[in-house]
Amino acid sequence: MPGFEFFGNEERKEVNDVLETGILMRYGFDGPRKGIWKAKELEEAITRVFGAKYAQLTSSGTTALTTALTVLNIGAGDEVIMPTFTFVASFEAVLGVGAIPVLVDVDETLTLNPDAVRAAITPRTKCIMPVHMCGSMADIDALQQICKKHQLVFLEDACQSIGATYKGKAVGTIGDAGAFSFDFVKTITCGEGGVILTNNEEVYLKCDGYTDHGHDHKGIDRGADLHPFIGQNFRISELHAAVGLAQIRKLDQFLAVQRKNQRLLRSYLEQVPELSFRVIPDAEGDSCTFLSWFLPTEAIAKAVVAEMKVQGILPGNFYWYANNWHYIKQWDHLKDIATLNNLNAEQKSALQKLRSTNFPASDAIMSRCISTAISLMWTEEQVREKGAKMAAIIKKVLSEATVHA
Ligand SMILES: *Cc1c(COP(=O)(O)O)cnc(C)c1O
Repeated sequence: MPGFEFFGNEERKEVNDVLETGILMRYGFDGPRKGIWKAKELEEAITRVFGAKYAQLTSSGTTALTTALTVLNIGAGDEVIMPTFTFVASFEAVLGVGAIPVLVDVDETLTLNPDAVRAAITPRTKCIMPVHMCGSMADIDALQQICKKHQLVFLEDACQSIGATYKGKAVGTIGDAGAFSFDFVKTITCGEGGVILTNNEEVYLKCDGYTDHGHDHKGIDRGADLHPFIGQNFRISELHAAVGLAQIRKLDQFLAVQRKNQRLLRSYLEQVPELSFRVIPDAEGDSCTFLSWFLPTEAIAKAVVAEMKVQGILPGNFYWYANNWHYIKQWDHLKDIATLNNLNAEQKSALQKLRSTNFPASDAIMSRCISTAISLMWTEEQVREKGAKMAAIIKKVLSEATVHA
């Protein structure tokens, strides 16, 4: 799954190029940097590999989302529809720009249910932000149609799905903007980093300025740049970009290994008729960082998790329903409005309501779901062993459940 598993001399060489010049910053110092522009080079590679017109690197996936929301003019009083299942960074970004996260049920795609999205639209809705979780994608056509009909911004949180495609297009490049994360556990890593993808020049130019204190990057040197608007420092460093440059060249290899390992593992789980798999709107486009599957009931899922723990194969199998970071059930800090600064009144009242809101449709899906992370390091023998062991555990739990029923 993560690029750090394939870390080697290629990354070292790219980082060394930067260390040789000592210019760790991505802008300026034109003379001493001796033609080394790793961040620029990585942005060009990203536009080529993913087919987006523009790419703006950032310091993280979270700052990429924050930047995208900001430049798409989403702020105080605006509602952003997002799923109940995602990493906490998605709502951190929404709250950070002053907007209101409106949490909406997921379906078996493990992200936004289009019907639930339609039901959540109000006059304040400004943006729909699906999260392409665990390597695969949302029902993009359905969500895009809703955006068109209601004139909403479509922002893709594609942080977890680098390399996934939908009908031939890279996820993250389809909406008004999209974000990838290059943190340490993502498909491509920079150590820390992120990128905003867009096909809209105006959006891109604003990202370029916003992530660098509002610099217009038009002066003869940095000191001569003007500041048409107020920005932030969300810059990536040359050292981080250098790592990403070596990693992006390996992406095809990562994806090929993931696909091979995921398919083989799946063939073992397919032998259990009671088990079903995540719905993938374009199966060809799955990046295969995970294999996500459903058991018939919550009780059976919990028993399978417990048995995997006993047999020592739980690591790498994620039961998101009970996990502290990815599902609304455990987001007490959000429901308790445990912020260090003051939110605006509209944000507060929305979060207060969240405390008494239930999501039975999401619960019914997430309580039965397990995602197996696909490692790049597995040998074929290891995948076969793992698959056989998992299938045996599931069959055992299912047969015991029948006996007890
Ligand atoms: C990792 C992740 C992010 C944030 O990325 P960072 O680079 O860690 O800030 C945002 N959304 C999702 C779904 C993620 O998995």
